[in-house]
Amino acid sequence: MSAARSGRVLLVGAGPGDPDLLTLRGVEALRAADAVVYDALSATALLDLAPRDALRIDVGKRGHDAPTRPQEEITELLVRLAREGRTVVRLKGGDPFVFGRGGEEASALALADIDFEVVPGVSSVVGGLAYAGIPLTDRRHSASFAVVTGHKDPSKVTEETRWGELAVAADTLVIMMGMSNLESIVEKLLAGGRSPDTPSAVVMEATLPAQRVVEAPLRELPARARAAGLGAPALVVVGDVVKLRQQLAWFERRPLFGRRVLVTRTAEQAGDMVAALREAGAEPVLEPMIRIAPPDSWSAADAAIESLSAFDVLLVTSANAIRCFAARAAERGVALGGFRGRVVCVGPKSAEATLAEGLPVHTIPAERFDAEGMLEAILRHAPPEGLRFLLPRAESAREVLPDGLRAAGARVDCVSVYRTESPEGDGAALRERLCRGELDVLTFTSPSTARHFAARLDAAALEAARRCLVVAIGPVTAEALGGLGLAPDLVPERAGAEELVAALAERVASLGVEREGAS
Ligand code: SAH
Repeated sequence: MSAARSGRVLLVGAGPGDPDLLTLRGVEALRAADAVVYDALSATALLDLAPRDALRIDVGKRGHDAPTRPQEEITELLVRLAREGRTVVRLKGGDPFVFGRGGEEASALALADIDFEVVPGVSSVVGGLAYAGIPLTDRRHSASFAVVTGHKDPSKVTEETRWGELAVAADTLVIMMGMSNLESIVEKLLAGGRSPDTPSAVVMEATLPAQRVVEAPLRELPARARAAGLGAPALVVVGDVVKLRQQLAWFERRPLFGRRVLVTRTAEQAGDMVAALREAGAEPVLEPMIRIAPPDSWSAADAAIESLSAFDVLLVTSANAIRCFAARAAERGVALGGFRGRVVCVGPKSAEATLAEGLPVHTIPAERFDAEGMLEAILRHAPPEGLRFLLPRAESAREVLPDGLRAAGARVDCVSVYRTESPEGDGAALRERLCRGELDVLTFTSPSTARHFAARLDAAALEAARRCLVVAIGPVTAEALGGLGLAPDLVPERAGAEELVAALAERVASLGVEREGAS
C-alpha cells in the first residue's frame, strides 16, 4: 500500500449466505484486500479470507431495515479508503446490482474518479430458490419471471410499483424485502387478477442451515408465514413452479440439515470435519478447545534430530506431531526427507501430513487408526526386536505404543514436540449457547478437547451439554468423556472426520425414524 498510488474498490457479491457460493474472483479479491467494507448479511467465513491485517469495517446495512450508516457515509468511506491507496472490497449480500445499491456506489466511485470493478455474486433470487428446490423457470410451469422489491409501501397511491400489472405479467414472481408488507402485497396481487390458489412460498434465510420454507396458496400465504414465525431476510415466491418443491427440496433433505454441531479441534485441523458437516447439511460451530504450543523442552527432540540416521523406524501418531517435528528439524537445518528408515503412520491423515513433509510412508494400520492398531500393524509386519524407534509426540501422550514395542524387544525414544493447551477465553459465550439449547451435537476428537471443554462448564452448562448428542471420535476419547460425566451417545467404529460425520448422520436418521414412530 503506498499513499502515492490511488487504490481501487471492488464491489463484490458475497452470495446469498452459504459461504461456498462466493465466486472465484470474489475469493481472489478478498485475499488481496487491504480493507473490507461489509454489510450485516455477509457471512463471517468470507471475512476470514482477507489478510489478517486488513481493515474490516461493518457498515451494518440489513436489507430494508434502517441502515446504521447512511448510504452517503458508506460511499464517502469507500472513496476515502481508496484515496489512501488501499485495495478496498465492498462486500455485498447476493449480487451487488440486484437491490444492493451497488449501482449507486459505483456511480459515486465513477464521479470521484476512483478505479472500480464489479464482481457479480449469486443473487438470493437465484441461489435461495435453488436451495429451496424451486426453479425460477421450468418448461412445464413457467416461461418468465419478475423480481420486485416489496419495500415500497404498496398502499401509497403515489407509489410506482405497478403491482396490478405485475400480478399477471410474469409466470413466476419473486418479491424481495417483502416481509413487512406481505399482507398488502398479496392483496394487490389478488386485486390485479392473480389466482388466490396460486402455489406460493416464503423462503427465509435461504442457503443457510437455518433455512425455513412455508408453502401455501397465495391467499393464505401471509397468515401461514406469520404463524410459522417467518421474517426477513426472506424471498416471497408466487407461481406454479413452487409445486416442484415437493420433489426438488434437496437441501432440507440432507441428513444433518439444520443441526448445529460443535467442533472442538483446532481451526487448522477442523477443515475436513467442517466440510463434511456442511456437506451433510449441518451448521458447524467451531470452538477450538485446544491450541498447539511448543513443548516445555526441546532437548530430547533436538538430540533425535542430530542423530536421525541412528533410528530404524519413525512413528507418526498424529499430523500435529509430524508437522511440529519437521518444523523444528527445519529450524535446526535438517530436512526430514533425508531419513532413510521405515515410516509407520497411525492413519490416513497422519500419512498425508507425513508425505507433505517429504517423507515416505511404509505402513499404516488396516483397521484401527490408533496406538493399538499401529502396534498390531508393526508386530504383524516385522519383529521389532533390536530395532530403534523414534516417536515424536505430544507431552503427556499415552504409553500403549512405546510400552508394547519395548515388550517386543525394541528400543523406543519418545521425544516431546508439542503440547496442547486450553485456548484463551473463559467460555462464557459457549456456556450461554449450551444453556439456550442452541447446540444439537457436541463432537470431541481427543481427550484434551473433552477435558478443556468440561473445564469451561458450570453445573447448568454441563447439564445442558448432557442433553446434546455427544460424539467421541474413538474409544480413548470416549473414556475421557465418561470420566468427565459426559458419556458419549456415539463412538463411530472408525476414527476420522468423515467417518464421524457419516456415523452421526446415520444416528440422526435413526432417531428421526424413532421420533416419527412415536408420534
Ligand atoms: N443484493 C441482494 C439483495 C439485497 S436486498 C441479492 O442479490 O440477493 C435484501 C433482500 O434480499 C432481503 O430482504 C431478502 O428478500 C433477500 N435475501 C437476501 N439474502 C437472503 C437469504 N439468504 N434468504 C432469503 N432472502 C434473502
